[in-house]
Amino acid sequence: MAHDAHTRRQILKAALGGAAGMLLSTPRGAFAATAQAQPAPAVTQQLSDDLFVVSLPGESNVVAQSGGGGVLLVDGGSAKAADALMKIVSGLPAGGPVHTLFNTHWHPEQTGSNELVGKAGKTIIAQENTRLWLTTDVTWSWNGQHFKHLPKIAQPNKSFYTTGKLDAGVSYGYVPDAAHTDGDLYVYFPRQNVLAVGDVVSGQGWPVVDWQTGGWIGGIVGALQRLQTLANDETRIVPGRGPVLSLKDIKAQAQMYSTIYDRLSTMLNKGRGPTEAVAAQPTKEFDAQMGNGDEFVRRSFESLWAYLSPDA
Ligand SMILES: [Zn+2]
Repeated sequence: MAHDAHTRRQILKAALGGAAGMLLSTPRGAFAATAQAQPAPAVTQQLSDDLFVVSLPGESNVVAQSGGGGVLLVDGGSAKAADALMKIVSGLPAGGPVHTLFNTHWHPEQTGSNELVGKAGKTIIAQENTRLWLTTDVTWSWNGQHFKHLPKIAQPNKSFYTTGKLDAGVSYGYVPDAAHTDGDLYVYFPRQNVLAVGDVVSGQGWPVVDWQTGGWIGGIVGALQRLQTLANDETRIVPGRGPVLSLKDIKAQAQMYSTIYDRLSTMLNKGRGPTEAVAAQPTKEFDAQMGNGDEFVRRSFESLWAYLSPDA
């Protein structure tokens, strides 16, 4: 696989120097309030006349834009929910079959509709690294979980490296910080001022730090800084999980992850290991809102090895 990991890490290290050192002044209470305000399990949230967030129980968020009897999706849920999702989006106002599907990254919670959409001959867009991950099997080192590659018909049939634009004015771009994986993308709907960001941002609990496919704690900080340049005070930001967020939430999250990043990298520099990092409870003051941080801390610490160790 042609991942230019070494160069990427050097760029990330350079980029992070500025990002992690930046101080933000959003009070922590602002973020805590939002994190607690989980919406009732409404299936479809309308963001504008033609833009919706579809949340099936237990599934990740799907953003759907309808119009002209067809639908654009940002993420497609898991395979077991694919039929139900297709039914819901065809029933949206001006809805219909899916004509375009974005994969914000390769995880099965996002790519479960690829096969249906691919078989229908429609467009599946992903960043090139995500396309590559979907052509190969992946095994997570930390728990042995195995993910099979997608069949050819289900793989993204349109990939890009940096940015792109659809005829309808919708723009999309790579999030090169490797926050969640090394193939994360965002999709921006300018008329509605809605930014869909997949699992680059978690709106509900601690995120998975998938360092197996490039994600890392420094990338989370970097991406949260980057997203602030794409959003304004009115932008509604749709994360992979949880409620719709605002720029204020993103700023508060950036501050929180920056604090955790600093604590973990300090421990790494002192020669500590992941078990010691977990024992030190570096997420302590955030756990009441975010949930137990042990798993997140362990993965985050391991992710530092990939990016900050001298031989990385
Ligand atoms: Zn994910």
